[in-house]
Amino acid sequence: MSGRLQTSEGIDIARKALDLMAERSVPPTPQNYALFTHYAADSNAGLCEEMREALDAGGPLEPALLEDLYDRHFTFKRIQDAVMEVGGAMSRELGAVVKTLEAAERDTVAYGQVLAGASGELNEATDAASVKRMIEGLVAATARMQRRSRDLEKRLQETSQEVSLLKTNLEKVREESMTDALTGVANRKRFDEAMRAARREADLKNVPMSLIMCDIDHFKRFNDTWGHQTGDQIIRFVAACLARYSKDYHVVARYGGEEFAIVLPRTQMEEARTIAEKVRATVESKRLLRKSTNEDLGNITVSLGVSQYREGESIEALIERCDTNLYKSKQTGRNRYTADGDRGTGAVAA
Ligand code: GH3
Ligand code: MG
Ligand code: MG
Repeated sequence: MSGRLQTSEGIDIARKALDLMAERSVPPTPQNYALFTHYAADSNAGLCEEMREALDAGGPLEPALLEDLYDRHFTFKRIQDAVMEVGGAMSRELGAVVKTLEAAERDTVAYGQVLAGASGELNEATDAASVKRMIEGLVAATARMQRRSRDLEKRLQETSQEVSLLKTNLEKVREESMTDALTGVANRKRFDEAMRAARREADLKNVPMSLIMCDIDHFKRFNDTWGHQTGDQIIRFVAACLARYSKDYHVVARYGGEEFAIVLPRTQMEEARTIAEKVRATVESKRLLRKSTNEDLGNITVSLGVSQYREGESIEALIERCDTNLYKSKQTGRNRYTADGDRGTGAVAA
């Protein structure tokens, strides 16, 4: 948003944002407020377009949708802020080290002068008293030097600790910006990255790569019956099932609200099928209890699509094929997976 906004303009924008939030029953969280003020100020073209689309659709604005918008449009800014902060702290640290080094250098020069002076003064005629004075002077100068180098060493040690702390913080922010807050699995951004990396590897090393997409069945009905919070509990449960059967080099991601994906580098379709089936069976077999009241929620099921990368195809084409397989699973009765080449009903696993 422009820093040049006049106060009255700013107030108008804030009012417009709050009115719109009230009208659409959007909870006044700082994140939502950020979304709506940017929308009211028309200051972020991509965000405004998506917001307009969501508002025009007329239905309730789901928290998941708002969260996703916030994540995608503002998380980058958060990283930028963190980088700026680390940059500032680094330059302060280095400034302090340079100052200490300069002081040490001044002392070294002074020490050299003391030594040179002493050797100049030494001749056969030097009496015992002046030798004593000279030695005292040398001892004092040496002690100063020792102190200074101890200070310098301590300062450098502190700096190196500070730098590694800053590095850890930055890594944490980066990790957080790639993680879905509700489930702890990868978010869409990391999914995109993992897909690009897996495809590159498949092309360069001629290894297979597969993709699984997974969508919870009749989730809207479930949400409507049990409420959004219990819905969130289910989303977390499904994410955990997907993670349970994935290898450590597979990337489980929350692709959208109640949709997930697993990027499977170095993995043939057959193995991907096995994983999809294990996830399906595990989700189906678990009786779910509502956390707050212990009520029996019955069972939930998922539908999945499985595809293997074909050399030269785009990432979008692979996702689309996998999504079509998922759609076939929905159409032919849900609670099943469909892989490339399976006829609609051929993949019934239940
Ligand atoms: P289908 O079997 O065809 O997939 O039916 P469905 O009801 O699952 O399909 P649909 O995609 O229409 O509904 C998804 C619903 O998921 C809509 C939305 O209310 C809900 N949802 C999306 N994100 C979240 C979230 O983060 N938390 C909760 N609790 N619900 C969400
Ligand atoms: Mg869906
Ligand atoms: Mg669904």
